[in-house]
Amino acid sequence: TPPFDINAVRRDFPILAERVNGRPLIWLDNAATTQKPQAVIDRLAYFYAHENSNIHRAAHELAARATDAYEAARHKVARFLGAGSPEEIVFVRGATEAINLVAKTWGAQNIGPGDEIVVSLLEHHANIVPWQQLAAASGAKIRVIPVDDDGQILLDEYQKLLNSRTRLVAITQVSNALGTVTPVKQIIDLAHRAGARVLVDGAQSVSHLRVNVQALDADFFVFSGHKVFAPTGIGVVYAKKELLEAMPPWQGGGNMIADVTFERTQYQPPPNKFEAGTGNIADAVGLGAALDYVERIGLENIAHYEHLLLDYATQGLKTVPGLRLVGTARDKTSVLSFVLEGYRTEEVGAALNRDGIAVRSGHHCAQPILRRFGLEATVRPSLAFYNTCEEVDTLVAVLHRLARGKGNTALR
Ligand code: PMP
Repeated sequence: TPPFDINAVRRDFPILAERVNGRPLIWLDNAATTQKPQAVIDRLAYFYAHENSNIHRAAHELAARATDAYEAARHKVARFLGAGSPEEIVFVRGATEAINLVAKTWGAQNIGPGDEIVVSLLEHHANIVPWQQLAAASGAKIRVIPVDDDGQILLDEYQKLLNSRTRLVAITQVSNALGTVTPVKQIIDLAHRAGARVLVDGAQSVSHLRVNVQALDADFFVFSGHKVFAPTGIGVVYAKKELLEAMPPWQGGGNMIADVTFERTQYQPPPNKFEAGTGNIADAVGLGAALDYVERIGLENIAHYEHLLLDYATQGLKTVPGLRLVGTARDKTSVLSFVLEGYRTEEVGAALNRDGIAVRSGHHCAQPILRRFGLEATVRPSLAFYNTCEEVDTLVAVLHRLARGKGNTALR
């Protein structure tokens, strides 16, 4: 049983009462995006009904309300991540934009010909492609940390990759394809000893486990709001203050300048230096409300319950004949990835959908790690704290039905 009132939690998420194909919706696509509690939906409506204005630039009451709400959200993010100060929090569209921002500013300034960027085989394409683009533009090289058969990165191999040319290690904290939790603290310590900076992709971690960027000593940490019960279109770059201060701006425009003449433009200090133009004010406020909600339940409680749920689901899936689980690391969270003999992954996804169950099937924007296991695609149920053992039972029952129907062409 969860250490919180699961029925009350489920009532907080209106979409969980939806029906799909005549069945109650079972939302097991949380790694793609999470559902939104009423508190977040209400906060957005309240913002537009009572506070809406552009920020920072006007003398009127609503500008003050909007600015206060936006900056309060920045404070909440800073507290949520254990950052040293809100000035270390830059709002962007999501994890993808966050990584691109770091690549195009810090990366362009600090990475040159012959330098090395280390990523892992577990990375989402969002933490591969921007570094490839940077490597192509700068003459740097990409080195890849391999993983073992359970889907955990090989620390020994990682250590061998580090050298005096290593400038950056870009590593996910949780694999979106397998659920592996990587040893980021050790990865960061080793990188720092080699004189390299570290970017942690927290897109899949912040909704499942407690993060403290200062305890980790992460140089950069990024995440997307929509994967932590907040709206789409808002995300975060955390970076150490001295890094943000030294980094050049990315986009130029309003809001990010202190003074403009045609001879010379002076920029605002961070974070404004990186927030050109009118940002996603309402959704930043919504992100603040989502983090308040998560903190009310408590990440420790969430992690504890999701662990039980993951174990329960893993045991359940193991009973299905012909089902092959990939990603069996001891340290993992909330993601199950499998293939079912005799079925294409999209057939499994479609069959589950007929029973109201939403899962992702495909390559999960993480082709290198799936290919490591000889696969082009998997079926990926992914959990959140509002999921239940009963939902998992339904998933397992439908998979059993499919497995029994193998060879039955009518079913296929
Ligand atoms: N990194 C990881 C590990 C992810 O799972 C995702 C989203 N699937 C991203 C980065 C990119 O996030 P977004 O699409 O929200 O920018």
